[in-house]
Formats: sequence, C-alpha cells, structure tokens
Amino acid sequence: MKKNILITGGAGFIGSHTYIALVAAGYVPIILDNFCNSNPIVLERLERISHLQLKFIKGDIRDSKLLGKIFLDYNISSVIHFAGLKSVGESVEKPLEYYDNNIIGTLNLLMAMRSANIQTLVFSSSATVYGNPVSAPISENFARCATNPYGRSKLIIENILEDVYQSEPGWNIACLRYFNPVGAHRSGLIGEDPLGIPNNLMPYIAQVAIGRRDHLNVFGGDYPTHDGTGVRDFIHVMDLAEGHVAALEYLYSKRGMLTVNLGTGHGVSVLQMIQAFEQASGMKVSYKIVNRRPGDVAECWADTTLAEQKMGWVARRSLQEICEDAWRWQSNNPNGFNS
Ligand code: NAD
Ligand code: UDP
Repeated sequence: MKKNILITGGAGFIGSHTYIALVAAGYVPIILDNFCNSNPIVLERLERISHLQLKFIKGDIRDSKLLGKIFLDYNISSVIHFAGLKSVGESVEKPLEYYDNNIIGTLNLLMAMRSANIQTLVFSSSATVYGNPVSAPISENFARCATNPYGRSKLIIENILEDVYQSEPGWNIACLRYFNPVGAHRSGLIGEDPLGIPNNLMPYIAQVAIGRRDHLNVFGGDYPTHDGTGVRDFIHVMDLAEGHVAALEYLYSKRGMLTVNLGTGHGVSVLQMIQAFEQASGMKVSYKIVNRRPGDVAECWADTTLAEQKMGWVARRSLQEICEDAWRWQSNNPNGFNS
C-alpha cells in the first residue's frame, strides 16, 4: 500500500521539489504550510507537474490540535519536516521569532507525533551546524557550533532529536544537513522565489540576468581560494529532494538514527558560478567585487561518503543543469510565482 507522508513546509522551495520526488517514488505526500514564506500558486503548479490532485492543509506546526487531526484523518506513516524560518540575518534581529517557530514548532510536532504513535521523521538540518569549519571537505563528525540564532535553532533541534531517539524505543530519525540547494524543477514551473532582495547567490545571479537587478556584489575577492572568491557546495534541489526519498527508504528498511550531509562533494566559487550561469542563460551577469560579508567562511563543501554508503544516494545533476534549470524557472517567471 502507498504510504502517506506529511510534509511540513511543503509549499516552500525544497518542500515543493520533494513533493514531486515523493510522488515519483510512489508515496502520497500531504502538505501542511502556513504560507509565511511561500505562495499558494505553488500548489497549482505541483498539480500540473504531477497530474494528481494535491492534498493540502493550511495551518501552523505550532497548532497541536490541527496536527492531531491531520494524523488521524490521513493515516500518516512518517513526517518530513521542512517548516521553519531560514534567514540568518533575520534570525539575528528576531531571535525569539526564530526560536518560537523552529524550536517550539518542532517540539510541538514531536509531541503530536508521539501521541499519534508516528515515529519516523526526516528533518531539514543544515551545513550551518558546522559553524566555521576548520577545513573542507566537511564530514559529519566535524565539531558543531552555531554562529547565529538560525544555526543555533538547527543545532538545538538536532540535539533534541538525538535525546528523543535515545529515550524512547521505536523512533526512526534522519537529520539531513543540506549544503547549498539551488536550481529548479526542469519543468520551469516551480523554483526559488525569495521575498524582496535575495540573500543567496543563485537567486541574485538569476535576477541580475533577467534584468531585475543591476549587478551582483561579489562578497570578497581576497579569500585563500583558487580565484579569491568564496567556494560552496551547490546541489541541485531535485538531487536534494531525491535525498529525502533515499532517507525515508533507509528509515523504513534499516531503521534507527541517521545524520548525513547532502551535497555534491565539490566546491564551486562565486566567479565559477557566474560564468556557468552566463553560459547556460546566454545572458550577461554584471558584478562588482566588494568587501567580504561578515560571518562568511572561505570554503565549505561536503564529504558525501556517508550518504552514499548508508543510503546509496549521490547527487547526479551537473552545474550546467543547475544553471539551465534555474534560468528556465527565472525566465519563465520573471517575478517569481506572481509573474
Ligand atoms: P522555505 O522558506 O522556502 O520553505 C519553508 C516553508 O515552511 C515555507 O513554505 C513556509 O511558509 C513554511 N513554514 C514556516 N514556518 C511554518 C510554520 N510554523 N507552520 C507551517 N509552515 C511553516 O525554505 P526552504 O529553502 O524550502 O527550506 C526548508 C527547510 O530546509 C528549512 O527548515 C530550512 O531551514 C532548511 N534549509 C534550507 C537551506 C536553503 O538554503 N534553502 C539550507 C539548509 C537548510
Ligand atoms: N555571495 C555573493 N554575493 C551575494 C550573495 C552571496 O558574493 O549577493 C557569496 C557569499 O559570500 C558566499 C557564496 O556567494 O561565498 C554563497 O552565498 P549564499 O548566501 O548563497 O550561501 P551561504 O553563504 O549561506 O553558504
């Protein structure tokens, strides 16, 4: 029988792409989202891509009653938990809102899962839990440390999940530490649609290419990297989405607790990304090299050996595919979902 999976935050960037990967793998995903950082239009787009009527509940993970009702009504077998606030800068300004949404929200979800006897959870963690890593590639046993409230919320949740796993038999939990998710579904119907000025590199580049922004500020040209600009592990969001399916399948078959990096295992610099995007789009991406952004590390990329060993998962899509898909999304939807 097909398994019903609740995806909290499923209308967001990564959740919406994971919806498609879950359907393709034969699961029945049910989305819970309050749209605090997403657009309801994504739901119609998901129906167009999947040719299926979507199951959706508008609501907040901090609403215990609602969670209890969803678990009862939909016979949920496991939860993929994306819902949360994710901006580092905003978390410094509004720590209480971040702790409330991310930590209280997760506690509430865990308690509702316990009451409903649902014990399988995949959690969206982040490479941010490595703080300022001493070297790259980064493996899962590197020291963890948080440098801002957002990162602290992820670290605290990882610790809570470890405690829950140790204290109560029967839990199956995957903490997936994402590196830099980018790109879009190849249909060009869904993608990343940040509100206001993008904080992240990829959507910023795409908005320069389409003419919404004049130029990109490259934060730092004097890092000890091969071209002086920052190096990151950019992973296609559909590879990441498939990583969630692999994690679920691991939990169903092997059970237990799993903490793994989801990245490509390769670093790409800011200048390399600009060049790849220009090539894929045929558009010019003007840029200026400016001061470093406070808090940024020079290089950060994943050791992905464990994910491959444990789940048989590797990222398959190339940088060119990432840029082509991101450009298809951006050029078909110049103003995001509100185009
Ligand atoms: P996103 O903001 O696009 O998606 C999050 C979704 O959760 C949004 O649709 C939002 O409306 C919803 N949401 C937030 N709080 C909610 C609540 N209390 N109740 C119900 N819905 C709520 O973000 P994303 O990029 O898809 O990230 C998903 C998860 O992955 C987040 O937990 C994020 O911290 C984590 N993550 C993201 C990245 C990244 O670069 N995008 C990297 C590492 C980890
Ligand atoms: N970056 C940049 N200009 C921007 C946004 C990002 O030069 O407008 C650089 C940033 O300094 C880092 C890389 O691009 O070296 C990736 O940044 P992003 O914010 O996307 O991811 P993170 O720093 O969280 O890994």
